[in-house]
Amino acid sequence: MVQIQACMYQYSRAIYRSIKDLVDPYVDPETGIEYRRQVLEACEQTMERLATDPLYFAKPERALFQDIRRYFPITAQAQVAWAVSEGVTAACAFIESQIEAGAFDGGVSRCRATTRKGKPCQRTPLPDRDYCPSHQHLETRSRVAA
Ligand SMILES: [Zn+2]
Repeated sequence: MVQIQACMYQYSRAIYRSIKDLVDPYVDPETGIEYRRQVLEACEQTMERLATDPLYFAKPERALFQDIRRYFPITAQAQVAWAVSEGVTAACAFIESQIEAGAFDGGVSRCRATTRKGKPCQRTPLPDRDYCPSHQHLETRSRVAA
């Protein structure tokens, strides 16, 4: 898992590098730096979520583009959308290969909760936890009880 996250970091850097110079050139330099910081953070968050919750993240390239498009001028939107789509597609292909290789089963535990339908929850637990983000309240309860 640590290795997957390290790889995802490479993908987020690659996306960031391909679009950082396209941020709105008509803002003052300080705002430009802040814009870039926001863009990098959004790329990293997207990759982090892909790495921890790949099966439940629908249309990640669209989500990332929606998050960052406001930092770019109209004239750069198409190029940004393309770069984001390329980068996220590459990251998704990597994640899929990892899922096929079994990186997400066995070694990685599953959330211990049972869903409302009575089936075991298949989501990835939070780091060092037994439950996924949707069921993390169960953990707090069992810890308090213990
Ligand atoms: Zn769960």
